[in-house]
Amino acid sequence: MSDHPNRPAKPIATRQLLHPSPPIFEQGSPGRTGASLPPLDVPAIDPKAHFGALARSEPPGLPEVSEVEVTRHFTRLSRWNYAIDIGLYPLGSCTMKYNPKVNERVARMPGFAGLHPAQPVSTLQGALAVMWKLERLLCEISGFARATLQPAAGAHGELAGLMMIRAYHQDRGRHPTKVLIPDSAHGTNPASCTLNGFQIVPIKTGADGLLDIDSLRAAADGDTAAVMMTNPSTLGLFEERLADAAEIIHRAGGLVYMDGANLNALLGKVRPGASGVDVMHINLHKTFTTPHGGGGPGSGPVGVTAALEPFLPTPTVEKDPGVDGAYRLLFNRPKSVGRLRSFFGNFGMHVRAYTYIREMGGPGLTQATEMAVLNANYLRSRLKDAYPLAYERPSMHEVVFTDKRLKRETGVQTLDVAKRLMDYGYHPPTIYFPLPAVTGGAGALMIEPTETETPETLDAFADAMLSIADEARTEPETVKTAPHQTAIRRLDETRAARHPRLRWTRQ
Ligand SMILES: *Cc1c(COP(=O)(O)O)cnc(C)c1O
Repeated sequence: MSDHPNRPAKPIATRQLLHPSPPIFEQGSPGRTGASLPPLDVPAIDPKAHFGALARSEPPGLPEVSEVEVTRHFTRLSRWNYAIDIGLYPLGSCTMKYNPKVNERVARMPGFAGLHPAQPVSTLQGALAVMWKLERLLCEISGFARATLQPAAGAHGELAGLMMIRAYHQDRGRHPTKVLIPDSAHGTNPASCTLNGFQIVPIKTGADGLLDIDSLRAAADGDTAAVMMTNPSTLGLFEERLADAAEIIHRAGGLVYMDGANLNALLGKVRPGASGVDVMHINLHKTFTTPHGGGGPGSGPVGVTAALEPFLPTPTVEKDPGVDGAYRLLFNRPKSVGRLRSFFGNFGMHVRAYTYIREMGGPGLTQATEMAVLNANYLRSRLKDAYPLAYERPSMHEVVFTDKRLKRETGVQTLDVAKRLMDYGYHPPTIYFPLPAVTGGAGALMIEPTETETPETLDAFADAMLSIADEARTEPETVKTAPHQTAIRRLDETRAARHPRLRWTRQ
């Protein structure tokens, strides 16, 4: 029916096995439906009489499509996507490690998946046991006294941690206003501070890529609420002076927040809570194999030292010492910062992380860290001649390369390399982060292979990266106009952001 307002004039061409799919609102035909209901055999009601002002006066404007059109539309879109179950996902800073399928099986067990959070606590004992045991395991791994599982992401954990830091100071009659943050920090760190009403004092990165301890010392004073440090830093480097930094801050009356998003590099090696850190968030969706990406649920538990325990969000899960095996929710915590999330946080993530930790055991987690660091250093040594490092130091679980040399010699830059990688079948790494301010002005390529990749996969990826560096010399235009093999070619990203075109037109 060509008079359908959204109907493309000609059939949509398919290309190889890449099937384009216009927005679902532009598919179908008026009156088409995917459901066949029997004729109404009860009296029809008048929506106006029943729902008053809530009744619609116009039809809702839903797509009118057949079942097969719906199925194909979403299946086609899913096949344009890239996923950890398809190949290497070297997205630095994000820890895109493989999620063992047993985690999913356990999270879907009816005893967990069928729970309602408002059930009486006596019927939630198994779930509370998982949460309590997960809290104990996270505390043992990271060296803290207690943890909250409520925050729904790392950034939410930062917010929670800073709220507890504020409450701690206020409890002592102090109102410090500043938080010191290294300039290599993840953007969520300054954002969480601002949201908490703290002022940010940037601390510069030294010539060796580590936190500049003299700048920290100069900035720390009685108005310092905390320092927020990331270890390993976002440059993939171990902050060797964390203990010194902690001493300086503690002496000034402040606390040490550690951004624990990079805990994948420390399991079984460093327990931050036992090394001068007072508060730290853990990204279960990074370090403990709960799925992430696509805006799916995350989980950012926050560990604290005993001094901060009174300020934990409510409710906490407690194991009743008097009654063997019984768990309860403790709401009455007078100094608590309050509730930060509906119910108990993203419980499905807790089940997955608990399953993973129990499956791996202590030695398994330590080995995961060792392999993550080994894999990053392997790529480092294979690629550093073609893509000079941001800093010449051994890497932890991720490694930051730059486009310094390529750009100077061929004009090809970070973005071009990332786009060309798609033609080789890889998800591009994180690019232009850390920011040029800490990479000597060069465009960063931040690669985190994770521990779950085989040597064969790492070699194939390194070969692709080296091949792109060669292409930059022999056929720079191919790289600069990449990708060539994907359903959508290179976008004008500035225009896409400023003038988004949200309607389908055939290519
Ligand atoms: C991922 C990340 C965050 C934020 O965590 P989310 O779970 O994405 O909110 C903060 N800091 C660092 C260093 C990170 O890598």
